[in-house]
Amino acid sequence: MINYRNSAVSDYIRCPLAFHFAHNLHLQKIDDDSGEHHRRFGQAIHSALEVIYVDRDLEKAKVKMRECYPVQLDTEDLAKTVDNACFALEKYIEHYDWDKEWTVLSTEETDYDGSYVAVTPDMVVKDRNDNIFIVDHKTTGKYLNYDYFSDYDPNSQVTHYVQRTRERYGHCDGFIVNAIRFAFLKRASKDRAAGFNVEFERQVFQRTSSQIQRTERSTEEWIEEIEHSRRRGHWRAAETSSACKFCSYKSICSAGWSWEDDEELITNVFRRVCQQKIGNDYCNLDLNHSGDHRHELVAAAPVEFVVEV
Ligand code: SF4
Ligand SMILES: [Zn+2]
Repeated sequence: MINYRNSAVSDYIRCPLAFHFAHNLHLQKIDDDSGEHHRRFGQAIHSALEVIYVDRDLEKAKVKMRECYPVQLDTEDLAKTVDNACFALEKYIEHYDWDKEWTVLSTEETDYDGSYVAVTPDMVVKDRNDNIFIVDHKTTGKYLNYDYFSDYDPNSQVTHYVQRTRERYGHCDGFIVNAIRFAFLKRASKDRAAGFNVEFERQVFQRTSSQIQRTERSTEEWIEEIEHSRRRGHWRAAETSSACKFCSYKSICSAGWSWEDDEELITNVFRRVCQQKIGNDYCNLDLNHSGDHRHELVAAAPVEFVVEV
């Protein structure tokens, strides 16, 4: 049985054809600097936060941030920059006072046991009352309001994570969405200064046993369907165009190309990427590359940063 990441199952639910492009053919758009910027910046913040919680060392976390995001891939984005990230890390530890009441039980551990949906929580922590929480770090430009957090209820990722943490630690007292907002305001508003603003907000989500059972059941059914599509070699397109709005494979679909007939045309615009998980990253070398897996940053104009030690 193939192990699926929860996000892969969600991709299939959104559009089986997009799942096929992403998870079977491993197609990634060439020159997708903006998408790569958000992904890389988010991953760098995750790695820096891991240092904050594991090593309890702010300076080391800043160095990690600069190491993981050494070049600004999207120069138009004035909020998500490495300098702002270092400032945000300082404010973060002040704001949460290092989360001293938390003991870290694990960071970034992938758990495949007993199920075919792989989960990799950013962090599992225990508080002073022995409550166990999953902590998921999110970086966003959106307002951290009701709308933002409503995405997590219902949300099968949250449900799977809670269930697997219960299995592993005996109980799970919630899934904490640890949101950090990076915003750049051209003009001051009534409660925010002009320039870079960082905001922090957390919300805890719970899941009941019956919610967990329901989600497990429906995930099993979706995975059966994925396997069925694989056996037939047929991946149907999305039922509604709303799925296509932000899809990176739109150019393939609108041109009417198929992999079988138009591989050469497709590989002018897309490359096939390895995507093997390595630490907090995914290998971005060509599919079937030789040698070790690694993630390489590619940017047109490297920017140098002075690291204070
Ligand atoms: S453009 Fe639409 S139909 Fe095509 S892969 Fe993307 S979501 Fe699916
Ligand atoms: Zn690789």
